[in-house]
Amino acid sequence: MGEFRLRFAPSPTGYLHIGGLRTALYNFLFARANDGKFILRIEDTDRTRFVEGAIESLINSLKWAGIDYDEGVFLDDSGNIIEKGDYGPYIQSERQEKGIYGEYVDKLLESGHAYHCFCSKDRLDHLREHQKADGLIPRYDGLCKSVSLEEARKRVADGEEYVIRLKLPTNTDIVVNDLVKGKIVINTSDMDDQVLIKSDGFPTYHFAVVVDDHLMGITHIVRGDEWLPSTPKHVYLYEAFGWEAPVFVHLPTVLNKERKKLSKRNDDVSVDDFIEQGYLNEGLVNYLALVGWSPEGNEEILDMENLIKEFSFERVSKTGGIFDRDKLNWVNSHYIKNLDDERLGEYLKPYLIKDNLIDDNYPSEKLNLLASTFKDSLDRFMDISEQSRFLFEDEVEITEEDAKEYVSKDHVSELAEAFKEELNSVEEVDSEFAKKVMKNIQKKTGIKGKNLFMPVRAMLTGMVHGPELVNVIELLGKEKILKRLDSFIK
Ligand code: GLU
Repeated sequence: MGEFRLRFAPSPTGYLHIGGLRTALYNFLFARANDGKFILRIEDTDRTRFVEGAIESLINSLKWAGIDYDEGVFLDDSGNIIEKGDYGPYIQSERQEKGIYGEYVDKLLESGHAYHCFCSKDRLDHLREHQKADGLIPRYDGLCKSVSLEEARKRVADGEEYVIRLKLPTNTDIVVNDLVKGKIVINTSDMDDQVLIKSDGFPTYHFAVVVDDHLMGITHIVRGDEWLPSTPKHVYLYEAFGWEAPVFVHLPTVLNKERKKLSKRNDDVSVDDFIEQGYLNEGLVNYLALVGWSPEGNEEILDMENLIKEFSFERVSKTGGIFDRDKLNWVNSHYIKNLDDERLGEYLKPYLIKDNLIDDNYPSEKLNLLASTFKDSLDRFMDISEQSRFLFEDEVEITEEDAKEYVSKDHVSELAEAFKEELNSVEEVDSEFAKKVMKNIQKKTGIKGKNLFMPVRAMLTGMVHGPELVNVIELLGKEKILKRLDSFIK
């Protein structure tokens, strides 16, 4: 085998699915590790499922994830779809327009590997119903197989509607060798004469995928295992054309914790969902790589460079990879901790604005301080609002239990008073003040340790645990602290 060539071939039916991103990632990792080429092809032969803007959205999601490719479909600087590479076009509807599929199906018709089928929808519906009623797996009964090519061409010329079907040999074993799933043998008596060209003249996925993978020189087909049952048809098509089949690699389905396929109704499935919730591209990609694959050592934090180094199909698991949100959060929090304050602050700002906690003019020093204060407790950016809300609200509430334990004692009023005095001695609260104030209160009141810190924290935040008190004091500022202390001064 010469240079390895891999492709990701999504259908533009909406957003990029999280399982699709993992498929793209494994293709990319293998291509990069082997100095191969990676190609993005768009499979849009099912025109009824085409969604406007889906191609752009797919490309943007891949870009966000840091998955780049060498050939195929790209966006230019103005966001227009363009194509690059020597094997184009890379959009199947354009290949259809060029007559590529027609040309190749003719070869199969000539060689007797395909035939025209003129059966009406009615007939096929009936057939299916009868087969079902008899407990059989519905499939085409081969009625039109005996129509000669000559006669078929006449009927086509006369305007009869038709599809073109693959002509499978009878009682023949088809062998699929899959790098992950192993050897699979299926007999043609258990297979259907697959439609290759539909009545609208468009190829089916099965036909287009084989023709394109061959013409684009694809050496490895890496895709989700929902395509495994279709692979024998593809293998037979390669045989019928006399082409060498690529290596097949079918990846285990991404499952939720209940071991069910991710569903839009119960799970986040679109990459955009994860972006919106504030997962970092590095975090999501690192975690996704581990859903259905594991590196040789125990290390689970692997950036793209290390993933490329470590990745191999041998360590891809045969059965479903579980998408575990807790683990994703853990991996993502690792990448958040590695961000510098300024960068994290920029990421957090839109979430805080959206939740009406700050506005666009919130000072950048405070944003940086906020970022550094919550850096260690954030799994994703979205959580910043819930975690930091107490800083922005006018009043804080203490639970009855905490109030009894921490702010009902006699010395609390004295503490509040001392804090207020400290505040009144300065123009505003800065980091200098924040660092010293607790010491000063301690000196003034003689109260220290738990008796000092817990009540102050409770008065200022409504909680008895939380982020660094010095930071909280600075973030709250003079006005807010004064207000919060007031209700504790007798
Ligand atoms: N267009 C198919 C999809 O949307 C691609 C399957 C394949 O990779 O062969 O999943």
